[in-house]
Amino acid sequence: MGRIPIMSDVTSANAALADALRRELAERGILTLNLIASPGAGKTALIEWTIKRLAGEYRIAVIEGDLTTRLDADRIIAAGAPAVQINTGGGCHLEARMIRDVLAQLSLDEVDILIIENVGNLVCPTGWDLGEDAKVVVASLPEGDDKPLKYPGAFDTAQAAVINKIDLEPYLPARVERLRANIARINPELDVFAVSCTTGAGVEAWLDWVRQRVQRKRAQGNEAS
Ligand code: MG
Ligand code: ZN
Repeated sequence: MGRIPIMSDVTSANAALADALRRELAERGILTLNLIASPGAGKTALIEWTIKRLAGEYRIAVIEGDLTTRLDADRIIAAGAPAVQINTGGGCHLEARMIRDVLAQLSLDEVDILIIENVGNLVCPTGWDLGEDAKVVVASLPEGDDKPLKYPGAFDTAQAAVINKIDLEPYLPARVERLRANIARINPELDVFAVSCTTGAGVEAWLDWVRQRVQRKRAQGNEAS
């Protein structure tokens, strides 16, 4: 009879599957990013900018995690990239097996960058490896500049942080520089970008980070082969 899995079995199975995914994606030279944020921080908007600005340079595909709708996947397709929707049916994070199950729906031979938009949640997505090369945490200024102190795990496990909605600073008590300082307190290694996905301010520096990561990924692939 099957036994009731305990958490450590579930997470170690997830880790093994994530490692297999990472190997497969690496063999294809695909850079994979896992975007984590609270609902409404602007993950989808950041992906839209990334698709539009890198069009003609890199081929991007997106896996969209949402509770029930496919609204974000439709936005991604409208922005010009293939998107696959995962509805978690209320589940608050994506798991490696969910990525595995939808990967065949993407033409991976035609993909340079795979972006996974996790379910809006700053807590448990940080504990689930999806086979990504990097986690990217998106924090918007209206959420407050103390976000990193309240949700350190998200900032601790990420390789980059994007501060969004900086154009709203004049109307808010939160300050971009305080948010930066709090991010640095939690994880001084993080690459931090301050952007507005409304005006496009700061987006170019984020795109340069993505470009560098793609180049590094390809260089690693060439070394391995
Ligand atoms: Mg979204
Ligand atoms: Zn969860």
